[in-house]
Amino acid sequence: MKVLVLGAGVVGVTSAWYLAEDGHEVTVVDRQPGAGLETSFANGGQISVSQAEPWSNPSAPAKILKWLGDEEAPLLFRPTASTRQWAWGLRFLYECLPGRTRENTLQILQLAIYSGARLKALREKTSIAYDSLQRGLLQIYYDAQEFERAQRRAELINSRGLELQVKSGQDCLSLEPALAYSKVTPVGGTYAPSDESGDAHLFTRNLAQLSAQHGVQFRYGVTIERLDAHAGKIAGVIVRSAGGASEVLRADAVLVCLGTWTPFLLEPLGIRAPIYPVKGYSITVPVVRADRAPSVCLTDEGHKLAISRLGDRLRVAGTAELNGYDTTISERRCNALIERAKVLFPDAVDFAQVQRWAGLRPATPGNVPVIGRTRYSNLFINAGHGTLGWTLCAGSGRAIADIVGGRRPQVEFRFR
Ligand SMILES: Cc1cc2nc3c(=O)[nH]c(=O)nc-3n(C[C@H](O)[C@H](O)[C@H](O)COP(=O)(O)OP(=O)(O)OC[C@H]3O[C@@H](n4cnc5c(N)ncnc54)[C@H](O)[C@@H]3O)c2cc1C
Repeated sequence: MKVLVLGAGVVGVTSAWYLAEDGHEVTVVDRQPGAGLETSFANGGQISVSQAEPWSNPSAPAKILKWLGDEEAPLLFRPTASTRQWAWGLRFLYECLPGRTRENTLQILQLAIYSGARLKALREKTSIAYDSLQRGLLQIYYDAQEFERAQRRAELINSRGLELQVKSGQDCLSLEPALAYSKVTPVGGTYAPSDESGDAHLFTRNLAQLSAQHGVQFRYGVTIERLDAHAGKIAGVIVRSAGGASEVLRADAVLVCLGTWTPFLLEPLGIRAPIYPVKGYSITVPVVRADRAPSVCLTDEGHKLAISRLGDRLRVAGTAELNGYDTTISERRCNALIERAKVLFPDAVDFAQVQRWAGLRPATPGNVPVIGRTRYSNLFINAGHGTLGWTLCAGSGRAIADIVGGRRPQVEFRFR
């Protein structure tokens, strides 16, 4: 079958890899000059199966209210006149109900466990390099109440087959000795030994290269404008090249992996995909004292920060801002990341050489991605992975390749 994959982020490229593995003739289209240059470019780097609980959870509404108007807050809602934003926000509040949170957590967890296994298999098969580390993920708490909640969450996660160990503050320092140089001491943590880290952009770029060697075609600098539907099928994909020429691409199947931009292509066809951008920031800094920089992947829950060692760099990523499609870098929000990094790892990195970045998480209100079929027989979606696109890419890619090929995916998930 001829398959067009729209979008060369980590989700599109991983899907293309599995589709090609199944013997399809695959072409990937993206407006950027290479793979993984938008949201997949400088994320937190964590393969964090243990972080399946969405941001829409019972503790979120109070936090969002408390932080309204605080420029440096980890979660910041900037109200705009957009009905899209308000509709998403109201649904987000609904997803904060305890029952919804539990259901969403379990959906994400099932897919994440499957995804972790698929990523390991892919790594073993291809020896793909992406500054990966398999040293587990330690979620650290500096607030006793938050830590108590974390212990209850650990019970749910453990009951579903993922090992999540509760650690004392002292245990956290033993697990990650670099924390001993911090200016603050954790009250405790939860540790997932099977979680990992790695550079999502390097992975996407290198997997695109491997896919090209296996026959996948990549068309960069091409903007997808709309889908042409006829008799219940997609008859063509209307695109524009960098030179301005319009073209119609045709295929037996079309897979939409456009991250945050997915709804703009699908809504004109009457397909709902409740995906809205949740902006985040990252800083990347060169490590100067290896013994004082962490190599276990960390999450600072109170500040909603992901910290990953990527080779000789340290990546600190986080914060969430509901602010539309703007990717401008806010100095203030990035500085908040730098200040926190200075508290946690004061002498580990060179703060004079900070690379700042902002990206738009393609988030659904419950953080559960939209994967599967549509009402058009040859149109499929793999998008809306929110805070966990890197964690979920391999499982989602394998599953959508199964669905496109007419097979049942090997994971229990609410597929479309
Ligand atoms: C600050 C931050 C930290 C994060 N940390 C983590 C983490 O630690 N772990 C984790 O699992 N996830 C993390 N994420 C989430 C993760 O990065 C995303 O979920 C993931 O990158 C989404 O991948 P994607 O392929 O769906 O989207 P993208 O990478 O955005 O890919 C979509 C592609 O579609 C293309 N495109 C869009 N519209 C068009 C068009 N009209 N024509 C042509 N091309 C188009 C774009 O160019 C882009 O290449 C983080 C995100 C952020 C912002």
